[in-house]
This record gives sequence, structure tokens and C-alpha cells, in this order.
Amino acid sequence: MKKNHVVWHKVNVNRQDRNHLNNHKSGLLWFTGLSASGKSTIAHSVEKQLFKRGFRTYVLDGDNVRHGINSNLGFSREDRKENLRRIAEVSMLFVDAGILVLAAFISPYKADREYIRKQFEGDNFLEIYVKCPVEECEKRDPKGQYKKARAGIIKNYTGVSAPYEEPENPDLILDTEKKPLKESVDAVIDLLAERGYL
Ligand code: ADP
Repeated sequence: MKKNHVVWHKVNVNRQDRNHLNNHKSGLLWFTGLSASGKSTIAHSVEKQLFKRGFRTYVLDGDNVRHGINSNLGFSREDRKENLRRIAEVSMLFVDAGILVLAAFISPYKADREYIRKQFEGDNFLEIYVKCPVEECEKRDPKGQYKKARAGIIKNYTGVSAPYEEPENPDLILDTEKKPLKESVDAVIDLLAERGYL
């Protein structure tokens, strides 16, 4: 689509101004990993801790987003890419608005995650790999989806009938088979402190 006549409007209040007002940096914490690895559980628990400290936060969750802005997308390679492109755009608006975004998406392809990282400048994108063997995720199966995927009722299911490409150099790895939830939450808070968010 041609956008030759679309021109950016100059803003009076920018991200730095909002960060200053909020007293904290905004950014995107990206949780990637298999379904049921613990991304949403950890993201929501971290948010609760940050909220208590007066942070402006928001959780973007794969399942919820697929009911709304991305309800017209499926799980083909192309749709997964478009799913994440839209999430990246939405996240950029939130980050520009001064919010610390916690995004929980399987995001199985390295290329798609790299695309998102590139949209953000410098240190306001942090990749967190929520690592858990598929066998353990299947045991948890909180929504019964692995069972359906094994039975062939759900097609293209990550870890069963579609690939998951592990991050090579994430900012943090949380091994949720071994790490209790509280330890994962503490590790994320420590990472934020290390990177100048707290
Ligand atoms: P995802 O967002 O990765 O699909 P969810 O957070 O929705 O995963 O589900 C993970 C499930 O695993 C939850 O039911 C959670 O209570 C459970 N769980 C068990 N042990 C852990 C752990 N150590 N860390 C995070 N979640 C855990």
C-alpha cells in the first residue's frame, strides 16, 4: 500500500518526557517459550510486584490478543509473523506512552523475535526465555491444548507439530521446571534493576 501522502505529526510530549514524569524507563519485556512454560504466570506476577512499586505497566498476552486485534489470524507461518508484527506495533505505542510492557507470546521463530528487537532502540527491549521441556509442559497442560494437539485436533501446535527455535542470546533464561515461580519473578526484578529500570 502506498503511503506517500502520510506525514508524521510532530509531537510536543515524547517518551523521555513521559519516562521523566513516571519516574521510570519504559520498555518491552518479551517472554518467549512453549505453551504452558509459564510466560503469562510469570509476566502477571512480575506486573503485580511492579505495580506495588508504582510502575506503569501492562501485560500483553498471546491468548487475549488473538481474541481481539489479531482475531483474524491463524497459526500458519505467515499469520504468526503478522501476529507478531502487530504486537510489535502495539508495544511500541505503549512504550512511547511511557509504559513498561510485559509481553507473553510463544514467538517460536528467531527471525520474528529479531524483527521485534530491531524495532526498539538500545536497551528498552529485553528477551526472557521461559524454558521448560515439552514433556513438563504437556504434564501441566492447563488448557488441555497439548492433548488436542497430540490427537491432531489442533494443527501446527508449537512443540508438537510446529517448531520452537530456542533463543541463542536472551537477556535472561528462566528454567521453570526447576525454578519455583517466586524465584523467576525475583530474577526478572533483578534484571530490571541491573538494566536501570528500578
Ligand atoms: P504460558 O503463558 O507459557 O502458556 P501459563 O503461564 O499460561 O503458560 O501456564 C503455565 C502453567 O504452569 C500455570 O498453570 C502455572 O501455574 C504452572 N506452573 C507450574 N510450575 C511453574 C513454575 N515454576 N513457573 C511458572 N509456572 C508454573
